[in-house]
Amino acid sequence: MTGEKRGLTRLRNIGIVAHINAGKTTLTERFLFRAGKQRFMGEVDEGTATMDFMPEEQERGISISAAVANLDWRGFHLNLIDTPGHVDFTAEVERSLRVLDGVILVLDGVAGVESQTEILWQQVQTYAVPALVFINKLDRETCDFEASLIALTERLGCAALPLVLPCKKGDEVVGLIDLVEGVSIGEQEVDSQMWRPSRQAVIEVCADYDESIMADYVDGVTVEPSRLHRALRRATLGGSVLPVLAGSALLNRGVDWLLTAVCRYLPSPLDRSVVDVERVRVTVDEDAPFCGLVFKLQSESDGRLYFVRVYSGTLRTGDSVQGSRRSDSVRVESIWRVHAAHQEEIQEVSAGDVGALRVDADLATGETLYATGHEVLLEPVSFPQPVLSTRVETVNATDADTIAVAARRLCREDPTLVLGEDEETGSLLVSGMGELHLSVFGERLAAAVGKKVRLSPPRVLLHETLAQPATASGECLRHLDGERLSARVELSAEPSPGLGPAEVGAVTLEDKGAEEMVRRLLRSQLQAGMSGPAAAHDLVVSVTAAAGDLLGPRGEAVCGEALAIACRKLATSGGPIQLEPYVDCTVTCPAETLSWALADLRSRGARITRVDAAKGKATIRGELRFSAVLGYTTELRSLTHGLGTVQLRPTGVRPVQGAG
Ligand code: GDP
Ligand code: MG
Repeated sequence: MTGEKRGLTRLRNIGIVAHINAGKTTLTERFLFRAGKQRFMGEVDEGTATMDFMPEEQERGISISAAVANLDWRGFHLNLIDTPGHVDFTAEVERSLRVLDGVILVLDGVAGVESQTEILWQQVQTYAVPALVFINKLDRETCDFEASLIALTERLGCAALPLVLPCKKGDEVVGLIDLVEGVSIGEQEVDSQMWRPSRQAVIEVCADYDESIMADYVDGVTVEPSRLHRALRRATLGGSVLPVLAGSALLNRGVDWLLTAVCRYLPSPLDRSVVDVERVRVTVDEDAPFCGLVFKLQSESDGRLYFVRVYSGTLRTGDSVQGSRRSDSVRVESIWRVHAAHQEEIQEVSAGDVGALRVDADLATGETLYATGHEVLLEPVSFPQPVLSTRVETVNATDADTIAVAARRLCREDPTLVLGEDEETGSLLVSGMGELHLSVFGERLAAAVGKKVRLSPPRVLLHETLAQPATASGECLRHLDGERLSARVELSAEPSPGLGPAEVGAVTLEDKGAEEMVRRLLRSQLQAGMSGPAAAHDLVVSVTAAAGDLLGPRGEAVCGEALAIACRKLATSGGPIQLEPYVDCTVTCPAETLSWALADLRSRGARITRVDAAKGKATIRGELRFSAVLGYTTELRSLTHGLGTVQLRPTGVRPVQGAG
């Protein structure tokens, strides 16, 4: 088997996901250190973490871009993709989940399952990526291993199976018990009575995958750990078990063990089936025709690096390949293995592996690359719509051009940043996923142009739906270069509560090319807004008739205009309703500041759903208008001696109150 030849069974493409501050970056640094990739241990708190190499990251001590690193561990090769933990950077997380084969979910053992953990877990489930859990920060006295386990089961609804058990002396964890091998590691011998029930649980799960295991166990025959490992691997790959490990990234405890568990239980590229958009399975074979997915762009001072996950075939320096978003071919100028900020040139990259390319064209993230004559479309990349917008305020006209060019480049690298123009002032309007997202954009923009860039206070983007079904027509007549062009369309809109962003319904035209174009134009018109800047929502809009010049770029211009007119009329006749987004918030703060935080939330119009206080820490959950939490983080900090944190999670949209 060719996979064997290249050691594909010993390759792991792994991501680490976690709620912010759980210790993901620290853990990654430890991986690199343990695998001998780096002689010092990077520290997040000192701004020396190798994986957080963008200046914005080292300043804030958080990870934004999904940097890639690779390491060798006991005969295995691991490609590690560091994913961002902040909710504003969902696109980065989703994009990396597509190309990962397995995931390590890191929990902060003090905080347990947090709001972002839940969101990430849902995404991991959506992409059906097998996972392991690492409960971190066992060195802290307030770390609660049991509570974290319960939260994994209750809040994430997953079949968490601990493979380790911390043993404590007072509040301090002094060692770990390996439940698979049945041995304790650490300073003292632990009475096996204490861990026998937990080990029994591991064996019972394994027995589901290998009947002989239970029989041997009951008969008192030693079950070799290798048999348990095999059974656990099957259970993990099948998604029926979520193995749980634990340790302290900071103190480098349990890290080797975790690396070994990744190799033992998480999938190799051969274990994962990959399908194209037509559900045709892609064969993971280095000798098949090449295909791969561009999942990340990174700007370098001298050009761009495109990160590609190769699914099939082998890509070599000098090859010419096709891209799903272009008609001409793309030449591969060089291929690199990337280790955070450093790169090493390689000659080829094969099925299952990840590489970074320099090419002679402009590629987009989510683009499929394939060998000429073997067309494949891997994933249509769709991302959530932006929720906030801000104006880029420029001082003089000369700066405006440089800023626009740089802004366009940054927006291409991140599909959840959308560039537009403010109709009144003509200045650049940038929409994104949250305040942090936009402010990081502002910083990167300033760094790119070497000047200060001011952004206006962000505004929440509204949506628009209709009170009742409506129909409308639109007509456009135009003279272009002496030619008379016309188009006429009829639309019908049906409200569909709970649908989310508006969808294009039936469009039936004789000419398939014209139909495709009308669909595309209508979709972007709905996204841009039927009449104003609010994206259409909870609606299905169908094209009941379309006639005239519907082909070519000119047809596109008249048809687009006709659609815009019809949409405007739809909006008026259907009874437009403005909708605004709401969010669930989870606020944590010191218990003694609870009443201030609560009063402040109430003054913002929050509906408080739950308040808990334990061990000096309080948690408030509630729901409120998204616009009411802009700038909230700063306010919360000042109310809570700098210790309060807030997590937001979109819950949907509701009619704007008091508008009239
Ligand atoms: P990330 O946001 O998930 O990347 O988390 P970081 O790796 O940046 O860590 C967040 C904070 O937690 C930093 O101050 C780390 O030093 C600290 N930290 C990480 N791992 C541990 C651990 O095992 N024990 C303790 N006590 N602190 C940790
Ligand atoms: Mg980090």
